[in-house]
Amino acid sequence: MPDLPSAAAGSFLPGDDQREVQALVRRIAAERVAPRAAAIDRDAAYPQDMFDLLRDLGLFTLPFPPEYGGAGSLLSGCVAIEELGRVCYNTAYLLLVQWTPIGAIIAAGTTAQKQRLLPGLANGTLRAGFSLTEPQSGSDVSGIRTRARRDGDGYRLTGNKVWCTNAAVSDFILVAARTGEAKRGAINFFIVERDTAGFTVGRAEDKLGARGIPSSALFLDDACVPAENMLGVEGQGFKSVMAALNASRPLIAARGVGLAQGAMDLAAEYVSNRRAFGQAVSDFQGVRWMLADMAIGVEAARLLTYRAAALADAGAHGAELARAAAMAKCFASDTAMRVATDAVQLFGAAGISNDYPINRYFRDAKVLQIVEGTNQIQRNIIARTLLGSPGLGSTGLGGGGRSN
Ligand SMILES: Cc1cc2nc3c(=O)[nH]c(=O)nc-3n(C[C@H](O)[C@H](O)[C@H](O)COP(=O)(O)OP(=O)(O)OC[C@H]3O[C@@H](n4cnc5c(N)ncnc54)[C@H](O)[C@@H]3O)c2cc1C
Repeated sequence: MPDLPSAAAGSFLPGDDQREVQALVRRIAAERVAPRAAAIDRDAAYPQDMFDLLRDLGLFTLPFPPEYGGAGSLLSGCVAIEELGRVCYNTAYLLLVQWTPIGAIIAAGTTAQKQRLLPGLANGTLRAGFSLTEPQSGSDVSGIRTRARRDGDGYRLTGNKVWCTNAAVSDFILVAARTGEAKRGAINFFIVERDTAGFTVGRAEDKLGARGIPSSALFLDDACVPAENMLGVEGQGFKSVMAALNASRPLIAARGVGLAQGAMDLAAEYVSNRRAFGQAVSDFQGVRWMLADMAIGVEAARLLTYRAAALADAGAHGAELARAAAMAKCFASDTAMRVATDAVQLFGAAGISNDYPINRYFRDAKVLQIVEGTNQIQRNIIARTLLGSPGLGSTGLGGGGRSN
């Protein structure tokens, strides 16, 4: 793989800090992570050893603000995810799930909530999940039905959630629930701790990809959480949490960049060693152009991702960040799918065999186009910054659609 683009080429490109992260994580990925990737996927078993490795290296701290022991760099986080995702989607996912809740907590949490939760997430003594999706509503967050009813000095939560990633190993989960009827203002997030009475985590889904990190249903049956576990102020949490998810979306894009790079690496190696019609497969012009197209896509996805992360680190917000982050997520995950599909093609029948790693990339890439806001929803976000909401004709970010 080529080095990262030169920092001199643009202020948004990685500098020395990112290069250090890249060198460290690239070495660890090759030596410690790559040998585990196939088994994690095959066994669909949570890779506790990989979690311990990332924690011991201090990698969880990267995007946390300095006051919580971090480097405060989403860009460094992207570089780490990219390097891990190049060899093992599931290990890269460990960083992402650890980081998904932090933007929400920073954006909407009280000082006490931040002090209670952020240091543990940064040093790996706490794990968390983020739960919005319900059986009847994924993209359409306004359709969630889980209720939070005020009861004395707490809330009682009742409802079912699905696809909550990391729930099975989480110490707490940020759960979205309605406190009233208004479409969005009435949705709030609650910190639901693992041992809360009335709260259970269901069985893990048997998945096509992302198999190492469990995604589970949640059941809330009059689960009682103290009032101080509501994230932020009643009625105001939802908007700031959604904005925070915009800010962390470059991390999702980075998984696509890493996956695409890894699939391309494997395809290039395979066609260089495989022979047909008396020559190396890599000498056929049709094949060379496929590799060239992969390289163009990967590099473009990388630059969109770094740019979005650098914007977030520089404090950009609102429509500017939402658009850059949605472009990065959409383009990087579509690129990952296209590159992985072409890479399977270049492996021929070996691409279909589970004895080779490439079909794992193909399966994981499909997940990326769906999670954290499908790519249709990302396109809706981008279009809204250009055209306004359908029927309203003004630019802005109002209107429906999941942003995580
Ligand atoms: C591996 C995995 C992990 C996940 N982890 C989590 C998690 O930790 N927490 C969590 O809350 N959720 C999680 N999810 C759920 C995920 O966020 C949702 O699946 C996703 O948002 C889509 O929702 P849906 O499946 O209900 O699809 P739907 O919303 O039912 O969409 C069906 C199809 O319609 C399209 N569509 C819907 N609305 C529009 C529109 N307005 N314009 C154009 N097209 C549209 C969608 O793009 C999709 O193609 C996870 C999902 C997976 C697969």
